[in-house]
Amino acid sequence: CGIVGYVGKAEAVPVLLDGLRRLEYRGYDSAGVATLNGHGIEVRKSVGRIAELARVIGESPVHGRIGISHTRWATHGGVTNENAHPHYDQSGKLVLVHNGVIENYQTLREQLEERGHVFKSQTDTEVLAHLIGEAFERNGDISQAGLVTAVREALRQVIGTYGIGVLHSALPGVLVGARRGSPLVVGIGKGEHFLASDVSAIVAHTREAVYLNDYEIVALREDGFDISTLAGSGVSFQVSKVEFSA
Ligand code: GLU
Repeated sequence: CGIVGYVGKAEAVPVLLDGLRRLEYRGYDSAGVATLNGHGIEVRKSVGRIAELARVIGESPVHGRIGISHTRWATHGGVTNENAHPHYDQSGKLVLVHNGVIENYQTLREQLEERGHVFKSQTDTEVLAHLIGEAFERNGDISQAGLVTAVREALRQVIGTYGIGVLHSALPGVLVGARRGSPLVVGIGKGEHFLASDVSAIVAHTREAVYLNDYEIVALREDGFDISTLAGSGVSFQVSKVEFSA
């Protein structure tokens, strides 16, 4: 239902939780965050309100200057901690949040299981993490371009709608997003960038935004961002001034 991502110089968790709170009015049944730091990826999830997620994080804090977060409105798989996002890939080095519905997830899941993948949730979403992680490892290009290519290859196999946010522990400064049929916006800051499903999640931090189009992929770093298409070509984008009374 809702996505908030951050990369920059600040602690990610307060930015992410604040953004999720601003998306609460849209409705959700569970929530989660993932951060990336010197120890790798750390994930916290909870069923229920953002206040409950904040309590879980308060008891067992996570740190990092890059992170993704999600409020889930379950479509496939019950309302459980395991089904809450973010979801890991097979290697445990990649995490992903997703808005939307993957219509052919059952076929993709069976194919992945035949290749030895083990699933931890009942969601349609988890196949996305596994497909991207698998492509990333197969290609062996451990760079921003390599992760973007892996996302492209994975999404070409997918039928359905998605707005996604992706982190890989081998690339601690890169946050990748992509969309088809679910909104996604980039927020531009000074030495920091944001990714959100709705601009209201990030207007406390910036009024400069780039609205992604369907079939576009963005790679965000603290010092910049690159947008391209699923087909692999470059994109000329417009920076919008967000008028918003918070
Ligand atoms: N289809 C996904 C799920 O059920 C994502 C739902 C959403 O957009 O929140 O986990």
